[in-house]
Amino acid sequence: MHYSSHSARPGDCVMTTSGVVASRAAQGSAWNDGGVAPLDFVRDGIWTVGVAMPTGPTPGGRIPCTLASIVADDAGGVHVIDPGSGSDDNLAALATALEGSGHRLDQVRSIIVTHLHHDHLGLAERLRDVSGAPIVLHRDEQAALDRLAADRPSVETERARLLGWGVPAERHTEILQLVGRSATPVLLRADVVVDDGQLLDVPGRRMRAIHTPGHTPGHLTVVDEDTRLVFTGDHVSPVLHPGLGLGGDDGHNPVLQYQRSLRRIIDLGVDEAVPGHGYRFVGLAQRCAEHAQHHQRRTDEVASALDSSPGASIFEVASRLTWSVGWENLAGFTLVSALQQTAMHADAVRSR
Ligand SMILES: [Zn+2]
Repeated sequence: MHYSSHSARPGDCVMTTSGVVASRAAQGSAWNDGGVAPLDFVRDGIWTVGVAMPTGPTPGGRIPCTLASIVADDAGGVHVIDPGSGSDDNLAALATALEGSGHRLDQVRSIIVTHLHHDHLGLAERLRDVSGAPIVLHRDEQAALDRLAADRPSVETERARLLGWGVPAERHTEILQLVGRSATPVLLRADVVVDDGQLLDVPGRRMRAIHTPGHTPGHLTVVDEDTRLVFTGDHVSPVLHPGLGLGGDDGHNPVLQYQRSLRRIIDLGVDEAVPGHGYRFVGLAQRCAEHAQHHQRRTDEVASALDSSPGASIFEVASRLTWSVGWENLAGFTLVSALQQTAMHADAVRSR
């Protein structure tokens, strides 16, 4: 999760009463207790472990950790998927987890990162420094990182966006004062970029990269085709509905992309998933369908608002939608996030 945005995302990060089942009780109970998930043996040389989130505002204060995965290959090496947030403590915790799996930091052969948010990518550089292992990203995620580095938001561009959305002048200050205050993205250069459908360099395993844009432009989902396990990052989550469009604008509509990406995962026909947060679970296709419905309801709501007043601005449309905290309580970060979400859905409506 990109927690600075997620925490500001009304309606997008509610806990769900989804029907999916934690397939590892210890992780499910760590989640319920708000603790960091212990090292969990999954199967056949695969482990997961919770890596602590930085202290501070997480989505609703309810996301204690990122789930990092440790995958052994048949050449004496080990691969880490989503090492987690960057801190010396987390590097030490990951080293301990590797030890628990029978490995050492210097056996790490690749660092595979699902997406650019700091709670997945943050530890990658430290891990690369101590192991020499390459960082692997999807090609479009590296491009998104490059754009974030090049286009730091300015007051002028943000003001233009607010005018385009029809935000009344008296609401500009509360949003413009936030420019430059969002968390600095983790800017780095991956050593390896992969494309959709490519097999990752994990000797003895068929670990396939699936491009699943929506949460971010180059979000990567990894499928272990032999053990029938999917590493979903923040694309599919048992504990919240992922926010969309949280990696900058690449000219595609994140809502439409996300719906297509969910279909890709359903079509894999695999039942068990290791997500980026929460707990390992079964019922992957069902959870994808729930995410699809959640976002489709929002698209439909925006469609009917636009139907009844075709010339309405994004601000006016947003004011007619249902927000979990109430429209009148949205301000600053939560307001701009609500407007962003509305604009994405409106764009999805217009293009259908
Ligand atoms: Zn994320």
